[in-house]
Amino acid sequence: MNLFILGVTGSIGVQTLDIVRNSPKKFNVVAVSGNYNLKKMKEIIVEFNPLYVSMGKRELVNELKLEFPNIEYGYGDEGLLQTATYGEKANDLVVNAVVGSAGLLPTVRAIEMGRNIALANKETLVIGGEIINELLKKHNVSLIPIDSEHSAIMQCLNGEKKESIKKIIITASGGSFRDKKRSELKNVTVTDALSHPNWTMGAKITIDSATMMNKGLEVIEAHYLFDVDYENIETVMHKESVIHSLVEFKDTSIIAHLGNPDMRVPINYAINYPERLPYQGERLDLVKLGKMHFEELSYDRYPLLKMAIDAGKSKGLNPATLNAANEMAVHLFLNGKITFLEIEDIVEECLNVFKNDKNINLEKILQRDLDVKDYVLKKYS
Ligand code: MG
Repeated sequence: MNLFILGVTGSIGVQTLDIVRNSPKKFNVVAVSGNYNLKKMKEIIVEFNPLYVSMGKRELVNELKLEFPNIEYGYGDEGLLQTATYGEKANDLVVNAVVGSAGLLPTVRAIEMGRNIALANKETLVIGGEIINELLKKHNVSLIPIDSEHSAIMQCLNGEKKESIKKIIITASGGSFRDKKRSELKNVTVTDALSHPNWTMGAKITIDSATMMNKGLEVIEAHYLFDVDYENIETVMHKESVIHSLVEFKDTSIIAHLGNPDMRVPINYAINYPERLPYQGERLDLVKLGKMHFEELSYDRYPLLKMAIDAGKSKGLNPATLNAANEMAVHLFLNGKITFLEIEDIVEECLNVFKNDKNINLEKILQRDLDVKDYVLKKYS
């Protein structure tokens, strides 16, 4: 199988290569994109021999050319699109592990080419879910989630009929501030926010976990992946991150997916689907685990969770507005320009300033993304 990996130097990209290493005969890494991590990209080129490489900036590509002259190169947004669409269609899988709305257009172009998708970039569905679902049908393409909760839900639904589902229940670890009250969040630092209790992830998603925006985005993602109404998607705090999500059926049965918090498990499932291949990870020891805990996720404590779900329900451009405001706000927080709680204020402000438009297309979504980010950047940096 030919692999096209977007965001290969990031957390999910690197773990995807760990899984590829397990089955070197099965996978052929054809095209990869990274952003600014030149050292990592050089290692990847030496080990996996891709035909096409894209980086965030032209200067980085120029440096790679000196060392690896026989590769085709691209950079920036165009390079990202070329990574997803490189070469002729064959037995292909595009792994989209890009962070943020930049992941939408490459997914669209890959689907139009008939390439199957393993999706870690949840923004693709959050801001473009309506469009993506139409395209998947039109081009007869399958899209398998890498997000651990959605991989879990998909596995719980194996062999089940949609009519039997009562609720989807998405678990949340609670993020780095789960033991703090709202009043204690005023002066938290970037370093505090980046220390996630269970998962090792990229910076953006670690902040989104602390604000619970990540769970809100995942509710929208689940709505589009599994075609379940928002009223039938619940969230619950589960501090151990052992149950990755659950499905409740109309006969009151609940099926859950359990495992250690290790992203290589959902990656292994997604890129080998429909096969379930062995993975040599640590086994979940139930006796050692002993107990599991569940708590209500309060909208008062995590207002961004409610804002995200409401934006999802209202459809149109609101999810794009919410996501763009959050992306830029998180960027500004990580760079010390705003406080942690201002992330919420900025998202709320943008949802008021930028009016919804229910009649959407790809161009409108991408324009809204740019406009909102521009607005936040100019006002707050
Ligand atoms: Mg997740």
